[in-house]
This record gives sequence, C-alpha cells and structure tokens, in this order.
Amino acid sequence: MKILVINCGSSSLKYQLIDMDGEQLMAKGLVERIGIEGSRVKHETTGKDKKVIEQDLKDHKDALKIVMDSIIDSEYGAIASLDEIGAVGHRVVHGGEDFADSVIIDEAVIEAIKKNFDVAPLHNPPNIMGIEAVSTLLPNVKQVAVFDTAFHQTMPAKNYIYALPYDTYEDYKIRRYGFHGTSHKYVTERAADMVGKSKDQVNLVTCHLGNGASITAVKEGKSYDTTMGFTPLEGLPMGTRSGNIDPAIITFLMDKKGLDGAGIDNLLNKESGVLGISGVSSDFRDIEEAMANGNQRAELALDVYETDAAKFIAGYFTHFDALEDIDGIVFTAGLGENSAETRANIIKKLSVFGVEIDSEANAMRGEEKIVSTDASSVKVMVIPTNEELMIARDTLNLVK
Ligand code: ADP
Repeated sequence: MKILVINCGSSSLKYQLIDMDGEQLMAKGLVERIGIEGSRVKHETTGKDKKVIEQDLKDHKDALKIVMDSIIDSEYGAIASLDEIGAVGHRVVHGGEDFADSVIIDEAVIEAIKKNFDVAPLHNPPNIMGIEAVSTLLPNVKQVAVFDTAFHQTMPAKNYIYALPYDTYEDYKIRRYGFHGTSHKYVTERAADMVGKSKDQVNLVTCHLGNGASITAVKEGKSYDTTMGFTPLEGLPMGTRSGNIDPAIITFLMDKKGLDGAGIDNLLNKESGVLGISGVSSDFRDIEEAMANGNQRAELALDVYETDAAKFIAGYFTHFDALEDIDGIVFTAGLGENSAETRANIIKKLSVFGVEIDSEANAMRGEEKIVSTDASSVKVMVIPTNEELMIARDTLNLVK
C-alpha cells in the first residue's frame, strides 16, 4: 500500500509518499509560505530531479492540491493516479489526554483534536486544516492521526503532575504531556533491535536534539518521563526557546519591558535559547562556526545547552535501579545525528557514571551506530530518526 504522510504547520506542509511494500520513499516535499506572498513547493520524486513550483497558495487546501498534482505529474511525479494512495497519515501535535495511540480519523476524533486547540493553539489548528483538505480532495481515502503526545501518555502521575494547585490539573488539564513522541518511539524500536531486546523490555534515555529538543526516559519500551511539558517550551534550551527558567522571570520581565501575554510568549519561544544567549543564530551550525571564530557568547550558548542536556540525562538515570539496567543513551535529530562534538561534550559530562564515548566511532554523521567504548557503563547510540516512516507504519497497521 502507498501511504501519504502529511505534517502541516501554520504556514508550511511537509509530505512524503511511502510505498509500504519494502518501506520505500517514493516522493517527498515541502510547501512553504502558505497564505503568505511568495508561496512555493519543493517536490522531489526518488530518482528524479527536484522540482520547485512558485505559485500563490491561499490556504492548506490550495497547498495540498498542488502536492497532489506534483505527485501525479507525468514528468516529475511518482504515481500515475491518486487512486494509488491507500491511506493518509497525519502528524497531529497535541492529543491531550484523549489519545494514547494513533487512531483512524472520524468526526469524533476531529472534535477531540479541536477540543485540544486550547493547549496547542499554534499546532492543532493547521493539523485540522490538513485533515479537512484531504477529506475534500480524497474523500474516499482513510486518514489516520498520529499524535506527538501519544507515546508519553504512559508516564506515571509523579512525572506529569506539576506542583501547582491540583485544581489547575482538574479544571484546565495543566500537566506534562511531552512531545516528539513519534521520534522517541521510533528510536526506541530501533535501539531495541540494535541491542537485541524486545521493544517492550528496552530501557533508554533518548535525546531528540534538533531545532526543538527533548529528552525522554524510556522504561521497558514506554515513556516514563520527558523534558517537554504542558507545551514544547519546557526542558532544554533550544534554537529559539528558553526551556526551563525561573517562572518568576515571566512577570518580572512583563513588568520591566511592558510586555503582554503575547509579547512574553514571543520572547520565550522565538528570541531565547541558543539564539538568545549567543545573539548569533538559532542554527547550531552557525553557533559552531561563530565559536570556531572565537565568539564567546556562542561558546557559552553551546555550553549551557550541553550542560543542561547532561543534567537531564543524569537525572533520568535515577529512574532506573542500576546503570547495568540502562541499555543505552540514544542521540537523534539534526544536532544529535550530525554533531559529533556535541555528543562527545555531553557524554564527557557523564564520565562520573563511567559512560565513555569512542571518539573514532563517534566521528561520523547520520549513521545508525554504537559510538561508546566497550568499557562504557552505558552504550551510547546514534539513530537517525524517521518520524514519517513511523507515521506511515501506524497508518498501515490501522487501515489494513
Ligand atoms: P526540527 O526540530 O526543525 O525538525 P531538525 O531535527 O531537522 O529540526 O534539526 C535541525 C537543527 O539541527 C538545525 O538547527 C541545526 O542547527 C542542527 N544541525 C544539522 N546539522 C548539523 C551539523 N552538522 N552540526 C551541528 N548542527 C547541525
């Protein structure tokens, strides 16, 4: 079966067409600037030249229409007819407490996703736009929702309840939800394979270090604790997000800078993180380059980032009875897969536990590999994530 995987952001849409017979990528692409002047589609069918189409697209339905046209284009497309698409899988950011697993989309599911607009105002509305656009353009095709939060629904209450008045949980569902679940789940399954354990036995600390970053303690294959919280702002500092700060800073800064809710939200989400500290960029490649040129704030930004990552990993070791029980520390996503230096720096800070990187094995990018020494107390692994494939697998399992 051929499955179309869709990931809708507020002004972007990423897609992949995957042939599940052999899990082969047939085509992928990105639509940018939806609803903004200068919209464009970058489409690439496996084995063919890339195609860029510049055309104004007023909404997600327009965007999806051009994606469909690209997929079946006789020159640069991947299939002859849309009838070949067996199902569509959507990445949906927030399933709240309603979804602990992926589901086939029906009216009730759409209502439940809408109910969670409140807790994911930036993410869930475009996800619904994508679902509704597919319903219009491919009315007979089954759609599946795969939630970023679902994998983390196994966390025990002690790891998801905040020390706030309990009625904030009861009345507003304020709790830790966790994100990047599809990625943490994917690398968990791969890591289990790599160490020869079944996926419901493996114990890991999985580090998704991309533009957004989160670290998860995986106990017996299930999420047990994770750094992102009620929103994807909590935890590690990220490209532009602050991660954890003293909550009192919020009202202090609102007062000093005369910011309203939207203003402080913008500061914490868009102007903070390694961009905020360095003043250079949110992209870790730029930070590394500035550092190499002697920029001290870039060095500080990376040091804060790596120190926090190490602290979270060390903290999560306490969730296990002994170091021997931990099957691995996994690095994934843009930085985790590609930056040997960041991996080495984080692991160096864990040497008190006897974790040790093998610098020769670690000198690579984007390979699935064990990069710790034989003597290391805990294995260190690099596993390139593949959220789209995970979404396609869940979709196939539900519709077949
Ligand atoms: P997103 O969270 O947007 O999905 P990705 O997982 O694609 O992000 O990660 C993107 C980030 O990965 C970029 O901001 C970049 O800083 C970082 N990155 C990618 N390649 C490298 C590299 N070779 N060295 C350091 N950082 C890298």
